[in-house]
Order: sequence, then structure tokens, then C-alpha cells
Amino acid sequence: MNMTRREALKRTAVLGAAAAFAPGMIARGNSPSAVGEYELMDLPYAFDALEPAVDAGTMKVHYQKHHAGYVRKLNAAMKDVSPRPSLEDLLAGPNLSDAVRNNGGGTYNHNIFWKSMAPIGEGGGGEPQGDLAARLRKDFGSVEDFRTQFSKAAGSVFGSGWAWLVVRESDGKLVVVSTGNQDNPLMKSVLSENQVGRPLLGLDVWEHAYYLHYQNRRTDYIANWWKVVNWNEVSQRLG
Ligand code: MN
Repeated sequence: MNMTRREALKRTAVLGAAAAFAPGMIARGNSPSAVGEYELMDLPYAFDALEPAVDAGTMKVHYQKHHAGYVRKLNAAMKDVSPRPSLEDLLAGPNLSDAVRNNGGGTYNHNIFWKSMAPIGEGGGGEPQGDLAARLRKDFGSVEDFRTQFSKAAGSVFGSGWAWLVVRESDGKLVVVSTGNQDNPLMKSVLSENQVGRPLLGLDVWEHAYYLHYQNRRTDYIANWWKVVNWNEVSQRLG
């Protein structure tokens, strides 16, 4: 059944706030920052598209179980909140509960992660170009120095976490940041100031991201991951 927005709002007033967040309802509203259910994004390629860097078995479980689980638990944690902020506003805000920090972070981080990769020959691999390459040279000395620093940060995460390329909020510089668990550089309420900024690229180094295929060889996973990085996406994120 199609409902106009006016009818939907009227219905909401009758049924109470909980009914306002049927999937998609608020997402069709006027405010870009008000969303309904947080949604599991579509994977932009097939499960086996990043082989052999990322194997199909890992990709399937990672997306269908882990990422989907974060989205489901985020929605559960936010069920009484209306209107719901965008993921970015939510994570940058104060007083993050553990559930929102972990599952909102997990939802957002994997959105970045999937988009940061592409199949070889279809945008994956190669070298950063244009403004992005110039900014990397300016702030790291060379693209290779950036890659080395990023790989080292990813390899050095103790336990579960992420490595990020970030436009740092305090000075606008491109910097490498690592975060634990599902924290990310948007979370100004829990990170130190020199870690906060806008993420351009993220690498998941939780064991669930590589253990099926690489077992304990995280270094090999990181080395192969560079072969599927979608630099065009990173450039677009830099803007
Ligand atoms: Mn993950």
C-alpha cells in the first residue's frame, strides 16, 4: 500500500513514535540527517570478486554474518530513538553507549571497507592519482612511505581493530590512525584529538577478516589487500 507522507505522519501520530520507524519511512522524508532503520549496504561486487586477495568464503561470512549482525544490533540499540541521526552524526556525537559504539562503528566501518576495495582490473589496485597522490606525497614524503606507515599500523594493532587513512580534523593533514575494536576516527568522544578526522580508507584487521584464508599471517593479508584498494573511491572521499 502506498501512503503519502502526510498520511504516514498522521498514522504515526495515532500509533505513536515506535511506528514512525518502519523501514524506509523516515528515509523518504525531507531531512537528509533523519534516517529510519540503518540498512546493510549492498556489497558492490560478488563474494569471489576480490580473490585471491580476499577469498569468497571470508567475504561471505564477513558480510552476511558480521556486518549484517552489527546493523541488526545497531537497530536494536536505537529502537527508541527518534529521529535517528545519520551514522556519521551518531558516531561523532557525545555519550556513545557501548552498543552504539560497537555496532554503529561496525556498521559504518564495513561500509567504508567494502567500498575501499574493487576487483583487480575494475578499479582495484594500482596507484593513487591526482590530488590524492599529491596530498600523500606532501604529508608522508612519498606514496610508498604512506603505504609503509599504513601497513605497519595495520600490522601493529593488538587484538582486533582497524587502520585508517584520515583527514585529521585539527590540522587538515592526511595521517594514519589505528583504532581498537570497532572504533573509528569519527568518534571524537572516545579518541584523542590527534586521531579524530574524516576517514578516507580503512583496513579491517580483525581475525574474522582474514583468518579463514591466511590463518595467523596478517602481514600477507595486508600485503595482498593493497592489490584490491579502490583508489578512485579514496580520491572521491577526499573530495
Ligand atoms: Mn570486520
